[in-house]
Amino acid sequence: MGEIYQNLIGGTWRKADDASENRSPSDITDLIGMFARGGAKDVTEATDAAELAFPAWSRSNPQVRADLLDRIATEITRREAEIALMLAREEGKVLPEALAETRRAAHVFRFFAGETLRLKGDAVASVRPDVDVEVTREPLGIVGLITPWNFPIAIPAWKIAPALAYGNCVIFKPAEQTPGSAHLLAQIIHEAGCPAGVFNLVMGRGSVVGEAMTSDPRISGISFTGSVPVGRHLAGTCAANMKKLQMEMGGKNPMIVMDDADLQTAVSVCLNGAFYQTGQRCTASSRLIVQSGIHDAFVAEVEKQLKALKVGHALTEDMQIGPVASESQLNSNLSYVALAAEEGCEVLGGERLNRDTNGFFQAPALFLGSKNSMRSAREEIFGPCASVIRVEDFEEAVSVANDTQFGLSSGICTTNLRNAREFKRRSAAGMVMVNLPTAGVDYHVPFGGRKASSYGSREQGSYAAEFYTSVKTAYTFAG
Ligand code: ADP
Repeated sequence: MGEIYQNLIGGTWRKADDASENRSPSDITDLIGMFARGGAKDVTEATDAAELAFPAWSRSNPQVRADLLDRIATEITRREAEIALMLAREEGKVLPEALAETRRAAHVFRFFAGETLRLKGDAVASVRPDVDVEVTREPLGIVGLITPWNFPIAIPAWKIAPALAYGNCVIFKPAEQTPGSAHLLAQIIHEAGCPAGVFNLVMGRGSVVGEAMTSDPRISGISFTGSVPVGRHLAGTCAANMKKLQMEMGGKNPMIVMDDADLQTAVSVCLNGAFYQTGQRCTASSRLIVQSGIHDAFVAEVEKQLKALKVGHALTEDMQIGPVASESQLNSNLSYVALAAEEGCEVLGGERLNRDTNGFFQAPALFLGSKNSMRSAREEIFGPCASVIRVEDFEEAVSVANDTQFGLSSGICTTNLRNAREFKRRSAAGMVMVNLPTAGVDYHVPFGGRKASSYGSREQGSYAAEFYTSVKTAYTFAG
Protein backbone atom coordinates (compact mmCIF):
# COMPACT_ATOMS: atom_id res chain seq x y z
CA MET A 1 0.00 0.00 0.00
CA GLY A 2 3.02 2.27 0.56
CA GLU A 3 3.36 5.41 2.60
CA ILE A 4 0.42 7.09 4.33
CA TYR A 5 0.62 10.88 4.20
CA GLN A 6 0.24 12.05 7.79
CA ASN A 7 -1.24 15.00 9.60
CA LEU A 8 1.07 17.74 10.88
CA ILE A 9 0.42 18.38 14.56
CA GLY A 10 2.71 20.35 16.85
CA GLY A 11 5.54 20.29 14.30
CA THR A 12 5.58 16.50 13.78
CA TRP A 13 3.94 14.23 11.22
CA ARG A 14 1.44 12.09 13.12
CA LYS A 15 -0.46 8.95 12.31
CA ALA A 16 -4.23 8.98 12.47
CA ASP A 17 -6.44 6.00 13.32
CA ASP A 18 -7.74 5.82 9.78
CA ALA A 19 -6.68 6.62 6.21
CA SER A 20 -8.44 7.21 2.91
CA GLU A 21 -7.60 6.71 -0.74
CA ASN A 22 -7.09 9.64 -3.07
CA ARG A 23 -7.84 8.78 -6.71
CA SER A 24 -7.75 10.88 -9.86
CA PRO A 25 -11.13 11.88 -11.35
CA SER A 26 -9.47 11.65 -14.80
CA ASP A 27 -8.71 7.97 -14.22
CA ILE A 28 -10.01 6.14 -11.18
CA THR A 29 -7.30 3.47 -11.54
CA ASP A 30 -4.72 6.19 -10.77
CA LEU A 31 -4.20 5.95 -6.99
CA ILE A 32 -2.44 9.12 -5.87
CA GLY A 33 -1.89 7.95 -2.32
CA MET A 34 -3.30 7.11 1.07
CA PHE A 35 -3.93 10.08 3.35
CA ALA A 36 -4.52 10.20 7.09
CA ARG A 37 -8.13 10.57 8.15
CA GLY A 38 -8.03 12.36 11.48
CA GLY A 39 -10.58 12.40 14.27
CA ALA A 40 -11.70 14.69 17.08
CA LYS A 41 -8.65 13.61 19.15
CA ASP A 42 -6.32 14.97 16.46
CA VAL A 43 -8.13 18.32 16.50
CA THR A 44 -7.73 18.47 20.29
CA GLU A 45 -3.99 17.69 20.01
CA ALA A 46 -3.51 20.27 17.27
CA THR A 47 -5.34 22.84 19.39
CA ASP A 48 -3.17 21.95 22.42
CA ALA A 49 -0.08 22.55 20.26
CA ALA A 50 -1.46 25.81 18.87
CA GLU A 51 -2.28 27.01 22.38
CA LEU A 52 1.34 26.42 23.45
CA ALA A 53 2.71 28.17 20.37
CA PHE A 54 0.37 31.17 20.41
CA PRO A 55 1.97 33.43 23.08
CA ALA A 56 5.36 33.60 21.34
CA TRP A 57 3.99 33.64 17.80
CA SER A 58 1.36 36.31 18.45
CA ARG A 59 4.05 38.63 19.80
CA SER A 60 6.73 37.75 17.25
CA ASN A 61 8.59 40.41 15.31
CA PRO A 62 6.62 41.05 12.09
CA GLN A 63 9.87 40.71 10.16
CA VAL A 64 10.07 37.08 11.32
CA ARG A 65 6.59 36.44 9.96
CA ALA A 66 7.34 38.35 6.73
CA ASP A 67 10.46 36.26 6.17
CA LEU A 68 8.60 33.00 6.80
CA LEU A 69 5.82 33.89 4.32
CA ASP A 70 8.41 34.98 1.79
CA ARG A 71 10.27 31.65 2.10
CA ILE A 72 6.98 29.78 1.65
CA ALA A 73 6.24 31.79 -1.52
CA THR A 74 9.72 31.08 -2.88
CA GLU A 75 9.38 27.36 -2.22
CA ILE A 76 5.93 27.17 -3.84
CA THR A 77 7.47 28.79 -6.91
CA ARG A 78 10.44 26.40 -6.89
CA ARG A 79 8.13 23.37 -6.65
CA GLU A 80 5.36 24.76 -8.86
CA ALA A 81 5.51 21.99 -11.49
CA GLU A 82 5.16 19.29 -8.81
CA ILE A 83 2.30 21.09 -7.04
CA ALA A 84 0.45 21.80 -10.30
CA LEU A 85 0.75 18.15 -11.29
CA MET A 86 -0.68 17.01 -7.96
CA LEU A 87 -3.49 19.55 -8.22
CA ALA A 88 -4.43 18.56 -11.77
CA ARG A 89 -4.21 14.89 -10.90
CA GLU A 90 -6.39 14.96 -7.78
CA GLU A 91 -8.88 17.73 -8.63
CA GLY A 92 -9.07 17.27 -12.39
CA LYS A 93 -8.40 20.80 -13.59
CA VAL A 94 -6.18 20.96 -16.67
CA LEU A 95 -2.46 21.57 -16.16
CA PRO A 96 -2.34 25.24 -17.29
CA GLU A 97 -5.18 26.04 -14.84
CA ALA A 98 -3.39 24.11 -12.09
CA LEU A 99 -0.14 25.96 -12.75
CA ALA A 100 -1.91 29.33 -12.72
CA GLU A 101 -3.53 28.44 -9.40
CA THR A 102 -0.18 27.39 -7.91
CA ARG A 103 1.37 30.68 -9.01
CA ARG A 104 -1.56 32.50 -7.46
CA ALA A 105 -0.81 30.78 -4.15
CA ALA A 106 2.82 31.97 -4.28
CA HIS A 107 1.67 35.54 -5.01
CA VAL A 108 -0.74 35.43 -2.08
CA PHE A 109 2.02 34.41 0.35
CA ARG A 110 4.32 37.10 -1.06
CA PHE A 111 1.58 39.74 -0.75
CA PHE A 112 0.93 38.87 2.91
CA ALA A 113 4.68 38.84 3.66
CA GLY A 114 4.45 42.59 2.95
CA GLU A 115 1.19 42.99 4.85
CA THR A 116 2.85 41.93 8.13
CA LEU A 117 4.62 45.31 8.06
CA ARG A 118 1.61 47.35 7.00
CA LEU A 119 -0.84 46.62 9.80
CA LYS A 120 -1.97 50.01 11.07
CA GLY A 121 -3.70 51.36 14.13
CA ASP A 122 -5.11 54.76 15.09
CA ALA A 123 -4.12 57.38 17.63
CA VAL A 124 -7.24 59.36 18.49
CA ALA A 125 -7.87 62.47 20.59
CA SER A 126 -9.62 61.74 23.88
CA VAL A 127 -12.64 63.62 25.21
CA ARG A 128 -10.89 63.64 28.61
CA PRO A 129 -7.88 65.80 29.50
CA ASP A 130 -4.40 64.22 29.48
CA VAL A 131 -5.74 60.95 28.15
CA ASP A 132 -4.40 59.26 25.01
CA VAL A 133 -6.49 56.79 23.03
CA GLU A 134 -4.93 54.14 20.80
CA VAL A 135 -6.73 51.64 18.63
CA THR A 136 -4.61 48.63 17.67
CA ARG A 137 -5.16 45.30 16.00
CA GLU A 138 -4.04 42.08 17.67
CA PRO A 139 -4.10 38.49 16.39
CA LEU A 140 -7.51 36.84 16.71
CA GLY A 141 -6.06 33.67 18.28
CA ILE A 142 -6.24 30.09 17.04
CA VAL A 143 -8.15 29.95 13.77
CA GLY A 144 -9.75 26.95 12.07
CA LEU A 145 -9.56 27.00 8.28
CA ILE A 146 -11.96 24.72 6.38
CA THR A 147 -11.57 24.57 2.61
CA PRO A 148 -13.30 22.98 -0.43
CA TRP A 149 -11.84 20.87 -3.23
CA ASN A 150 -12.22 23.23 -6.19
CA PHE A 151 -9.17 25.46 -5.51
CA PRO A 152 -7.10 23.13 -3.32
CA ILE A 153 -4.01 25.34 -3.19
CA ALA A 154 -5.26 28.93 -3.75
CA ILE A 155 -8.08 28.96 -1.17
CA PRO A 156 -5.89 27.45 1.58
CA ALA A 157 -3.21 30.03 0.65
CA TRP A 158 -5.57 32.97 0.94
CA LYS A 159 -6.66 31.83 4.39
CA ILE A 160 -3.32 30.55 5.78
CA ALA A 161 -1.19 33.50 4.59
CA PRO A 162 -3.18 36.27 6.35
CA ALA A 163 -3.71 34.06 9.41
CA LEU A 164 0.06 33.65 9.86
CA ALA A 165 0.89 37.21 8.74
CA TYR A 166 -1.25 38.71 11.51
CA GLY A 167 0.14 36.37 14.20
CA ASN A 168 -2.53 33.67 14.51
CA CYS A 169 -2.03 29.92 14.95
CA VAL A 170 -3.75 27.69 12.40
CA ILE A 171 -5.64 24.40 12.31
CA PHE A 172 -6.14 23.65 8.61
CA LYS A 173 -8.72 21.10 7.43
CA PRO A 174 -8.66 20.61 3.66
CA ALA A 175 -11.44 18.93 1.65
CA GLU A 176 -11.47 15.12 1.72
CA GLN A 177 -11.18 14.98 -2.09
CA THR A 178 -7.94 16.99 -2.34
CA PRO A 179 -5.56 16.15 0.53
CA GLY A 180 -2.53 15.87 -1.78
CA SER A 181 -2.21 19.59 -2.57
CA ALA A 182 -2.87 20.43 1.10
CA HIS A 183 -0.15 18.01 2.21
CA LEU A 184 2.39 19.54 -0.19
CA LEU A 185 1.55 23.00 1.13
CA ALA A 186 1.91 21.78 4.72
CA GLN A 187 5.32 20.26 3.91
CA ILE A 188 6.45 23.58 2.46
CA ILE A 189 5.20 25.61 5.44
CA HIS A 190 6.85 23.17 7.87
CA GLU A 191 10.17 23.03 6.01
CA ALA A 192 10.23 26.83 5.65
CA GLY A 193 10.71 26.93 9.44
CA CYS A 194 7.23 27.62 10.77
CA PRO A 195 7.49 27.10 14.56
CA ALA A 196 5.94 23.91 15.96
CA GLY A 197 2.22 24.27 16.66
CA VAL A 198 1.80 27.53 14.73
CA PHE A 199 0.51 25.69 11.67
CA ASN A 200 -1.26 22.33 11.97
CA LEU A 201 -2.78 20.16 9.25
CA VAL A 202 -5.65 17.85 10.21
CA MET A 203 -7.05 15.95 7.24
CA GLY A 204 -10.33 14.10 7.61
CA ARG A 205 -14.08 14.27 7.25
CA GLY A 206 -15.95 17.52 7.60
CA SER A 207 -18.55 15.92 9.81
CA VAL A 208 -15.80 14.74 12.20
CA VAL A 209 -12.75 17.04 11.99
CA GLY A 210 -14.68 20.14 10.91
CA GLU A 211 -17.31 19.55 13.56
CA ALA A 212 -14.63 19.17 16.27
CA MET A 213 -13.04 22.44 15.17
CA THR A 214 -16.28 24.36 15.47
CA SER A 215 -16.96 23.10 18.97
CA ASP A 216 -13.52 23.55 20.65
CA PRO A 217 -13.83 26.80 22.66
CA ARG A 218 -10.09 27.50 22.30
CA ILE A 219 -10.51 28.11 18.57
CA SER A 220 -11.49 31.78 18.22
CA GLY A 221 -12.58 31.89 14.61
CA ILE A 222 -13.52 29.73 11.65
CA SER A 223 -12.94 30.70 8.04
CA PHE A 224 -14.95 28.40 5.78
CA THR A 225 -15.39 28.05 2.04
CA GLY A 226 -17.90 25.46 0.87
CA SER A 227 -21.56 24.76 0.35
CA VAL A 228 -24.56 26.71 1.66
CA PRO A 229 -26.03 23.82 3.74
CA VAL A 230 -22.74 23.25 5.61
CA GLY A 231 -22.29 27.02 5.97
CA ARG A 232 -25.78 27.38 7.45
CA HIS A 233 -24.98 24.61 9.92
CA LEU A 234 -21.65 26.24 10.87
CA ALA A 235 -23.36 29.60 11.42
CA GLY A 236 -25.45 27.92 14.12
CA THR A 237 -22.64 26.03 15.84
CA CYS A 238 -20.21 28.95 15.71
CA ALA A 239 -22.76 31.37 17.13
CA ALA A 240 -23.55 28.92 19.94
CA ASN A 241 -19.81 28.69 20.71
CA MET A 242 -19.24 32.48 20.29
CA LYS A 243 -16.77 32.06 17.44
CA LYS A 244 -15.97 34.68 14.86
CA LEU A 245 -17.02 33.34 11.47
CA GLN A 246 -16.20 34.14 7.88
CA MET A 247 -17.80 32.14 5.06
CA GLU A 248 -17.76 32.02 1.28
CA MET A 249 -20.38 29.75 -0.25
CA GLY A 250 -22.25 29.35 -3.48
CA GLY A 251 -23.25 31.44 -6.43
CA LYS A 252 -25.66 31.50 -9.36
CA ASN A 253 -23.77 34.27 -11.04
CA PRO A 254 -25.43 36.26 -13.83
CA MET A 255 -23.67 37.45 -16.97
CA ILE A 256 -25.70 39.94 -18.99
CA VAL A 257 -25.08 40.23 -22.73
CA MET A 258 -26.53 43.46 -24.15
CA ASP A 259 -27.40 44.00 -27.82
CA ASP A 260 -24.55 46.52 -27.99
CA ALA A 261 -21.93 44.02 -26.74
CA ASP A 262 -19.01 43.03 -28.91
CA LEU A 263 -20.11 39.53 -29.94
CA GLN A 264 -16.69 37.87 -29.80
CA THR A 265 -15.92 39.43 -26.40
CA ALA A 266 -19.28 38.27 -25.06
CA VAL A 267 -18.84 34.72 -26.36
CA SER A 268 -15.34 34.33 -24.96
CA VAL A 269 -16.31 35.91 -21.62
CA CYS A 270 -19.30 33.55 -21.30
CA LEU A 271 -17.44 30.40 -22.39
CA ASN A 272 -14.64 31.13 -19.97
CA GLY A 273 -16.94 32.10 -17.10
CA ALA A 274 -19.35 29.22 -17.51
CA PHE A 275 -17.23 26.26 -18.56
CA TYR A 276 -13.54 26.68 -17.78
CA GLN A 277 -12.42 24.65 -14.83
CA THR A 278 -15.39 22.40 -15.64
CA GLY A 279 -17.72 25.08 -14.24
CA GLN A 280 -16.55 24.20 -10.73
CA ARG A 281 -16.03 27.74 -9.49
CA CYS A 282 -18.27 29.53 -7.04
CA THR A 283 -17.88 32.55 -9.35
CA ALA A 284 -18.88 30.64 -12.52
CA SER A 285 -21.37 32.35 -14.87
CA SER A 286 -24.29 29.95 -14.63
CA ARG A 287 -27.00 32.34 -15.88
CA LEU A 288 -26.36 33.96 -19.25
CA ILE A 289 -28.94 36.77 -19.53
CA VAL A 290 -29.07 37.74 -23.18
CA GLN A 291 -30.94 40.62 -24.84
CA SER A 292 -33.26 39.64 -27.71
CA GLY A 293 -31.44 41.46 -30.51
CA ILE A 294 -28.14 39.58 -30.04
CA HIS A 295 -29.63 36.36 -28.64
CA ASP A 296 -29.65 34.17 -31.75
CA ALA A 297 -26.24 35.26 -33.05
CA PHE A 298 -24.79 34.79 -29.54
CA VAL A 299 -26.27 31.31 -29.10
CA ALA A 300 -25.11 30.21 -32.58
CA GLU A 301 -21.54 31.33 -31.89
CA VAL A 302 -21.43 29.86 -28.36
CA GLU A 303 -22.77 26.57 -29.69
CA LYS A 304 -20.11 26.45 -32.40
CA GLN A 305 -17.25 27.17 -29.98
CA LEU A 306 -18.67 24.89 -27.30
CA LYS A 307 -18.56 21.91 -29.66
CA ALA A 308 -14.90 22.65 -30.37
CA LEU A 309 -13.88 22.62 -26.68
CA LYS A 310 -11.73 19.61 -25.84
CA VAL A 311 -12.89 17.63 -22.80
CA GLY A 312 -10.73 14.86 -21.35
CA HIS A 313 -7.90 13.72 -19.07
CA ALA A 314 -6.57 16.69 -17.13
CA LEU A 315 -2.93 15.77 -17.76
CA THR A 316 -3.23 15.53 -21.55
CA GLU A 317 -1.46 18.33 -23.37
CA ASP A 318 -3.78 20.97 -24.91
CA MET A 319 -6.79 19.69 -22.96
CA GLN A 320 -9.25 22.54 -22.23
CA ILE A 321 -11.84 21.03 -19.87
CA GLY A 322 -10.93 18.35 -17.35
CA PRO A 323 -13.27 15.86 -15.70
CA VAL A 324 -15.89 16.63 -13.08
CA ALA A 325 -14.16 16.26 -9.69
CA SER A 326 -16.08 13.23 -8.41
CA GLU A 327 -18.69 10.67 -9.35
CA SER A 328 -21.26 12.14 -6.97
CA GLN A 329 -20.75 15.60 -8.47
CA LEU A 330 -21.12 14.16 -11.99
CA ASN A 331 -24.35 12.39 -11.03
CA SER A 332 -25.68 15.59 -9.52
CA ASN A 333 -24.78 17.54 -12.71
CA LEU A 334 -26.49 14.92 -14.89
CA SER A 335 -29.64 15.13 -12.78
CA TYR A 336 -29.73 18.92 -13.35
CA VAL A 337 -29.33 18.37 -17.11
CA ALA A 338 -32.37 16.06 -16.99
CA LEU A 339 -34.25 18.57 -14.82
CA ALA A 340 -33.60 21.44 -17.26
CA ALA A 341 -35.08 19.31 -20.08
CA GLU A 342 -38.11 18.43 -17.91
CA GLU A 343 -38.58 22.12 -17.13
CA GLY A 344 -38.86 22.81 -20.86
CA CYS A 345 -35.36 23.94 -21.87
CA GLU A 346 -33.72 22.87 -25.11
CA VAL A 347 -30.55 21.23 -23.79
CA LEU A 348 -27.36 21.33 -25.86
CA GLY A 349 -24.61 18.94 -24.64
CA GLY A 350 -24.46 17.87 -21.00
CA GLU A 351 -24.09 14.14 -21.61
CA ARG A 352 -21.52 11.88 -19.95
CA LEU A 353 -18.52 11.32 -22.24
CA ASN A 354 -16.42 8.20 -22.65
CA ARG A 355 -12.69 8.63 -22.96
CA ASP A 356 -9.71 6.22 -22.96
CA THR A 357 -9.53 6.33 -19.18
CA ASN A 358 -12.26 5.65 -16.65
CA GLY A 359 -12.98 9.20 -15.46
CA PHE A 360 -15.92 11.52 -14.82
CA PHE A 361 -16.15 13.38 -18.12
CA GLN A 362 -19.12 15.52 -19.12
CA ALA A 363 -19.86 17.62 -22.20
CA PRO A 364 -20.49 21.29 -21.36
CA ALA A 365 -24.24 22.01 -21.33
CA LEU A 366 -26.33 25.00 -22.41
CA PHE A 367 -29.96 25.23 -21.26
CA LEU A 368 -31.68 27.28 -23.98
CA GLY A 369 -35.04 28.97 -23.49
CA SER A 370 -34.52 29.00 -19.74
CA LYS A 371 -36.61 31.07 -17.35
CA ASN A 372 -35.21 32.55 -14.17
CA SER A 373 -37.99 30.89 -12.18
CA MET A 374 -36.85 27.36 -13.12
CA ARG A 375 -35.00 25.32 -10.50
CA SER A 376 -32.20 24.71 -13.01
CA ALA A 377 -31.72 28.50 -13.13
CA ARG A 378 -32.03 29.06 -9.37
CA GLU A 379 -30.02 26.28 -7.69
CA GLU A 380 -26.24 26.13 -7.84
CA ILE A 381 -25.18 23.16 -9.99
CA PHE A 382 -21.38 23.52 -9.67
CA GLY A 383 -20.71 21.89 -13.02
CA PRO A 384 -20.26 22.79 -16.70
CA CYS A 385 -23.89 23.92 -17.16
CA ALA A 386 -25.29 27.37 -18.01
CA SER A 387 -28.87 28.60 -18.47
CA VAL A 388 -29.54 31.07 -21.30
CA ILE A 389 -32.32 33.49 -20.33
CA ARG A 390 -33.69 35.85 -23.00
CA VAL A 391 -34.60 39.41 -21.90
CA GLU A 392 -35.96 42.46 -23.73
CA ASP A 393 -34.05 45.37 -22.24
CA PHE A 394 -31.55 46.58 -19.64
CA GLU A 395 -34.16 46.97 -16.87
CA GLU A 396 -35.34 43.38 -17.28
CA ALA A 397 -31.73 42.17 -17.42
CA VAL A 398 -30.83 43.84 -14.12
CA SER A 399 -33.97 42.61 -12.43
CA VAL A 400 -33.34 38.98 -13.55
CA ALA A 401 -29.65 39.25 -12.58
CA ASN A 402 -30.53 40.32 -9.03
CA ASP A 403 -33.42 37.87 -8.62
CA THR A 404 -31.44 35.11 -6.86
CA GLN A 405 -30.70 33.95 -3.34
CA PHE A 406 -26.99 34.44 -4.13
CA GLY A 407 -24.83 37.53 -4.66
CA LEU A 408 -21.20 36.61 -5.22
CA SER A 409 -20.17 37.80 -8.67
CA SER A 410 -21.99 39.32 -11.66
CA GLY A 411 -21.11 40.68 -15.06
CA ILE A 412 -22.21 42.59 -18.10
CA CYS A 413 -20.94 42.61 -21.67
CA THR A 414 -21.68 45.99 -23.22
CA THR A 415 -20.00 48.78 -25.15
CA ASN A 416 -22.34 51.36 -23.62
CA LEU A 417 -20.77 53.29 -20.73
CA ARG A 418 -24.13 54.13 -19.20
CA ASN A 419 -25.17 50.44 -19.06
CA ALA A 420 -21.82 49.52 -17.52
CA ARG A 421 -22.02 52.28 -14.93
CA GLU A 422 -25.64 51.57 -14.02
CA PHE A 423 -25.01 47.84 -13.66
CA LYS A 424 -21.96 48.34 -11.43
CA ARG A 425 -24.17 50.42 -9.13
CA ARG A 426 -27.30 48.28 -9.16
CA SER A 427 -25.90 44.76 -9.16
CA ALA A 428 -26.62 43.04 -5.83
CA ALA A 429 -23.32 41.15 -5.88
CA GLY A 430 -20.03 41.56 -4.04
CA MET A 431 -18.00 41.60 -7.26
CA VAL A 432 -19.03 43.08 -10.62
CA MET A 433 -17.28 42.56 -13.95
CA VAL A 434 -17.62 44.61 -17.13
CA ASN A 435 -16.58 42.77 -20.30
CA LEU A 436 -14.75 40.21 -18.13
CA PRO A 437 -15.77 36.73 -16.93
CA THR A 438 -17.53 36.53 -13.55
CA ALA A 439 -14.72 34.21 -12.46
CA GLY A 440 -11.14 35.44 -12.32
CA VAL A 441 -10.11 37.98 -9.70
CA ASP A 442 -7.02 39.78 -8.44
CA TYR A 443 -5.42 38.62 -5.20
CA HIS A 444 -4.77 41.99 -3.54
CA VAL A 445 -8.36 43.26 -3.36
CA PRO A 446 -11.39 41.99 -1.41
CA PHE A 447 -13.15 38.83 -2.49
CA GLY A 448 -16.67 38.06 -1.34
CA GLY A 449 -20.37 38.40 -1.90
CA ARG A 450 -23.77 39.19 -0.46
CA LYS A 451 -26.92 37.32 0.54
CA ALA A 452 -26.49 33.52 0.76
CA SER A 453 -23.07 33.66 -0.93
CA SER A 454 -21.07 35.10 1.94
CA TYR A 455 -21.13 35.76 5.64
CA GLY A 456 -18.80 37.90 7.72
CA SER A 457 -15.99 40.11 6.55
CA ARG A 458 -14.18 39.94 3.22
CA GLU A 459 -11.22 37.73 2.35
CA GLN A 460 -8.02 38.76 0.55
CA GLY A 461 -6.02 41.94 0.30
CA SER A 462 -5.67 44.20 3.32
CA TYR A 463 -9.40 43.61 4.06
CA ALA A 464 -8.41 40.16 5.37
CA ALA A 465 -7.18 41.88 8.57
CA GLU A 466 -10.81 42.44 9.54
CA PHE A 467 -11.28 38.74 10.22
CA TYR A 468 -7.80 37.69 11.34
CA THR A 469 -7.33 40.46 13.92
CA SER A 470 -9.20 41.68 16.95
CA VAL A 471 -9.42 45.40 17.69
CA LYS A 472 -8.17 46.77 21.02
CA THR A 473 -8.81 50.26 22.36
CA ALA A 474 -6.23 51.42 24.94
CA TYR A 475 -6.56 54.53 27.18
CA THR A 476 -3.56 56.10 28.96
CA PHE A 477 -3.78 58.88 31.55
CA ALA A 478 -0.52 60.79 31.52
CA GLY A 479 -1.40 63.41 34.14
P1 ADP B 1 -18.32 21.09 -1.34
O1 ADP B 1 -19.64 20.78 -1.89
O2 ADP B 1 -17.60 22.18 -2.03
O3 ADP B 1 -17.47 19.90 -1.03
P2 ADP B 1 -18.85 21.23 1.50
O4 ADP B 1 -19.52 22.33 2.22
O5 ADP B 1 -19.47 19.89 1.52
O6 ADP B 1 -18.67 21.79 0.04
O7 ADP B 1 -17.35 21.06 2.01
C1 ADP B 1 -16.49 22.16 2.20
C2 ADP B 1 -15.59 21.86 3.38
O8 ADP B 1 -16.40 21.81 4.56
C3 ADP B 1 -14.86 20.53 3.30
O9 ADP B 1 -13.55 20.66 3.85
C4 ADP B 1 -15.72 19.64 4.16
O10 ADP B 1 -15.01 18.55 4.71
C5 ADP B 1 -16.13 20.60 5.26
N1 ADP B 1 -17.32 20.19 6.02
C6 ADP B 1 -18.34 19.39 5.63
N2 ADP B 1 -19.23 19.22 6.62
C7 ADP B 1 -18.77 19.92 7.69
C8 ADP B 1 -19.25 20.15 9.03
N3 ADP B 1 -20.37 19.59 9.48
N4 ADP B 1 -18.51 20.92 9.84
C9 ADP B 1 -17.38 21.50 9.40
N5 ADP B 1 -16.87 21.32 8.16
C10 ADP B 1 -17.56 20.55 7.31
